Amino acid sequence: MIVSDDVHRGTSVVDRPEDNADDLFAVAVEQFNIAADVIGLEDGIRQILSHCQRELTVHFPVEMDDGSVHVFAGHRVRHSSLPGPTKGGIRYHQSVTINEVRALAMWMTWKCAVVGLPYGGAKGGVQVDPKLLSQNEVQNLTRRYTTEIQPFIGPNIDIPAPDVNTNPQVMAWIMDTYSMNVGYSVPGVVTGKPLELGGSAGRNEATGRGCVFAIEEAAKTQGMSLTSARTVVQGFGNAGSVAARLMAEHGSSVVAVSDSRGGIHNPNGLDLKAVAIHKRRTGTVQGFAEAEDVSNVQLIELDCEILIPAALEGQITRRNAGSIRARLVAEAANGPTSPEADAILYDRGVLVLPDIFANAGGVTVSYFEWVQALQAFPRSEDQVNERLRDIMQRSYVTILETSREIRCPSADRGVGSCHRASCRFLPAAWNLSVGT
Ligand code: NAD
Repeated sequence: MIVSDDVHRGTSVVDRPEDNADDLFAVAVEQFNIAADVIGLEDGIRQILSHCQRELTVHFPVEMDDGSVHVFAGHRVRHSSLPGPTKGGIRYHQSVTINEVRALAMWMTWKCAVVGLPYGGAKGGVQVDPKLLSQNEVQNLTRRYTTEIQPFIGPNIDIPAPDVNTNPQVMAWIMDTYSMNVGYSVPGVVTGKPLELGGSAGRNEATGRGCVFAIEEAAKTQGMSLTSARTVVQGFGNAGSVAARLMAEHGSSVVAVSDSRGGIHNPNGLDLKAVAIHKRRTGTVQGFAEAEDVSNVQLIELDCEILIPAALEGQITRRNAGSIRARLVAEAANGPTSPEADAILYDRGVLVLPDIFANAGGVTVSYFEWVQALQAFPRSEDQVNERLRDIMQRSYVTILETSREIRCPSADRGVGSCHRASCRFLPAAWNLSVGT
């Protein structure tokens, strides 16, 4: 068994300003109700959409490398199958709870509606710190979890994808296990697979790339130049590291990044290639020679123009929203900003690109991958990236037009959340109310 330094860092010391995981579904429902009030959503539809349609909790044994058996808890939640099959990632994290999975599933429904994908939302999670397991143990866990949730998933039912601490390798194990159980290969059961197994070109980078496309659109309406903007990124994983690299390619100076152990800051800009090498070597960005170590709490409040939270939920709260110095917050993570923080940021003139738009690049390219699996017809990376850009740009315009049509308070500033948190959900709720 591999034991990382994190073993001594239990969940409680992970740097989270406000651990609201247990209340996360209440937050999601509160946000939805604010939006539903604004558009006068019919009560029956409101009732339906404020609940998750199906929920599965499983407890399953995994044989560890030393021969012992460990029982893990996992969930898979489908918020709404109204628009089509459901779609959403699988997360491996020690603080996974059913309420967190419900909230993430609900947000997936709005996200798919915002970018016009024919999916409802879903999410899955296993309560485990995978850094404490060997690769073999993660494989055993993934295969057993897949078997437990197998009746719940399928290419026409519910299609998982990567999320925190899961990756193309984990998706490959899910596809293989599902395929073994049914007796034939089913590439459409999961997205975010390795290219060799039918993955889509560009999927691995899609969340970060889509986030940067969203920032480009917002910067245009804000008259902000990306070349002179300083960027801070919380979370240097899949979404965060790609967003950081692409912001740097746009000429932005990325002055700080972080991971679960903490962050690093260099006001003159970080050499991201060197940071990535340092992280691969040491397991953390901290201790990088050409920067100062900072905590994740300090990082959120650093002087910059653009802040990209790309780690976990509950990072920007009423406690630190008043100290944020960025002009633009682009939510690569799901649920990083609480409704109270939304109001504070709105009053302070900070534009927040909500998660259901800003990180929709991942599910969009997952959709391309799913269609590719159903049609057995792959597309090139350039085609994927161009189509993604087109969808992000069109969605931005649609959200803006809808916000203006319904006189959303933030519409004059571009696409962003506002003091009633309504822009977070209005366009999605609008689409759903028209569609039902
Ligand atoms: P990941 O596991 O690849 O990376 C997560 C990163 O966050 C890691 O660097 C980790 O060390 C860091 N981290 C964990 N806890 C932290 C903390 N308390 N403070 C600071 N950093 C912390 O995960 P990911 O896939 O990049 O997902 C990150 C966020 O993006 C999540 O909210 C996820 O739901 C969201 N998201 C991911 C995708 C996707 O396609 N992977 C799509 C949409 C949204």
